[in-house]
Amino acid sequence: MIPAKAYAAQDAQTDLAPWSFERREVGPHDVQFDILFCGVCHSDLHQIKNDWFPGIFPMVPGHEIVGRVIKVGDHVKNFKVGDLAGTGCMVDSCQECENCKQDLEQYCLNGGSTQTYNSYERDGKTPTYGGYSNTIVVREEFVLHISEKLDLAATAPLLCAGITTYSPLRHWKVGKGHKLAVLGLGGLGHMAVKFGVAFGAEVTVLSTSPKKEADAKKLGAHHFVVTSDPEQIKAATGTFDFILDTVSAEHDFNMYLSLLRTNGTMICVGVPSEPAKVAAFSLLGGRKSLAGSGIGGIAETQEMLDFCAEHNIVSDIEIIDMKDITKSYERMLKGDVRYRFVIDMATL
Ligand code: NAP
Ligand code: ZN
Repeated sequence: MIPAKAYAAQDAQTDLAPWSFERREVGPHDVQFDILFCGVCHSDLHQIKNDWFPGIFPMVPGHEIVGRVIKVGDHVKNFKVGDLAGTGCMVDSCQECENCKQDLEQYCLNGGSTQTYNSYERDGKTPTYGGYSNTIVVREEFVLHISEKLDLAATAPLLCAGITTYSPLRHWKVGKGHKLAVLGLGGLGHMAVKFGVAFGAEVTVLSTSPKKEADAKKLGAHHFVVTSDPEQIKAATGTFDFILDTVSAEHDFNMYLSLLRTNGTMICVGVPSEPAKVAAFSLLGGRKSLAGSGIGGIAETQEMLDFCAEHNIVSDIEIIDMKDITKSYERMLKGDVRYRFVIDMATL
């Protein structure tokens, strides 16, 4: 076994603290890489707090992981020692079902994909541990190639915030001629703005934070709507082809659905802990669709990383020390993230 260091939550009530554990030995199809940076996703906070379901503890969060390969198994073909590598939200899947065969491992039909943490390996009993850690062992198929061209720390958030916004925009073919609203300007939202602009859409940010307007424009957004201002909401009613909803807390879906045009689609990627209440009338008037999307498959994640390398797209980040993680979560809960915290693993 490989000794590893991490920050872990021992239960849903206590803060993260240093913890030692073991990773599995590098198998024939595995890649081991030392973690240099790990992004901080709101999903990390949801999961250590049991917001969605009872978690598996001790829990080492982190699924925006980048680093350098230090060991590869005998059968590994696509990575060698010294390469940059990344891992996102999944570390395995059945690789046999209809969805896995279509590069949609995130929707694996055999019990779902194996999550990077707060999950069990395919054996159903070995817990997985995430990226707030010094090293990780992942099977080759779930390791991504990272370009040497981009800033490495700012690349980490692409592994979750990046792919989670890229995938739905590609699936719904959002681009030229579309009015796209990005609801919530946080980690996911700011990546959605960058991709929406890169794909040619007219992008509006819908935000509860008036002070984020200048940032939104700097990110490339064409318009900014403060959602607490009834006048601005009235002016935006019936105007968007798509709304990409990245909000992490409870909010009124019906109000946002009213901002869609006829035949418009609202796509949920944010995951509040409480179910939303949606009135049938909010959908049938204007034949609107309410949809959802979960991260993205491995092939599409690589496509997104290559697209970012080509177009020089990374996340806007604030680098933090591992010991400041709880303070960063507090700021995240207040919507005070510009626009992703990334842990420098050298501080572990
Ligand atoms: P984040 O950085 O905290 O951003 C969330 C943003 O939502 C905030 O910055 C804020 O933006 C807005 N917001 C917060 N509370 C709100 C409220 N009560 N009403 C309206 N807006 C509110 O979080 P994140 O890391 O981007 O993650 C966002 C959500 O996506 C989380 O629930 C996360 O678990 C989920 N997620 C889903 C997937 C997936 O596969 N579908 C993948 C990753 C994450 P403003 O200040 O602009 O209002
Ligand atoms: Zn995430």
